[in-house]
Amino acid sequence: MALRHIITLPDPKLRLVSKPLERVDDAVRKLLDDMVETMHEAPGIGLAAIQVAEPLRMLVIDLAKKDELANPLFFVNPEIVWSADERSTYEEGCLSIPEYYEEVERPARVRTRFVDRDGKPQEIVAEGLLATVLQHEIDHLDGVLFIDHISKLKRDRVIKKFVKMAKRAEGHPPL
Ligand code: ZN
Repeated sequence: MALRHIITLPDPKLRLVSKPLERVDDAVRKLLDDMVETMHEAPGIGLAAIQVAEPLRMLVIDLAKKDELANPLFFVNPEIVWSADERSTYEEGCLSIPEYYEEVERPARVRTRFVDRDGKPQEIVAEGLLATVLQHEIDHLDGVLFIDHISKLKRDRVIKKFVKMAKRAEGHPPL
């Protein structure tokens, strides 16, 4: 396994629409495993392939707590086929928008169709934190970020901050 570099705002790749995978082969499994290692190292509870600059429709999630055994979940070509009317609110963050958190309201339960790490079609009804993380990560596959679900005022402010930080990093190479 290998650690991958996580891209951050304002990298334009984050706005790409990722492409579906035709099959789950060893190369795909290798990328999934690299993504799990990268997510654990960060640390985070979800990571989409585009966050490591691979515009492919796949993501990993691990909701295990620090003192629990790792329990990575793999989703290839995930698709939400049903959403509950009931909503739930969670303070979200994103490895591609470091150290920024904001409350986002989403459907409380979602039925998701996907292909697993062995290439088998699966379907689950997710609720609670898993429902939130799945929707956040599937958004990434369509170039959507959690800040797109908050007010324009707050979104513009956070984007401006990251653009400024990126410029400062570029403009001042170390001596
Ligand atoms: Zn994210």
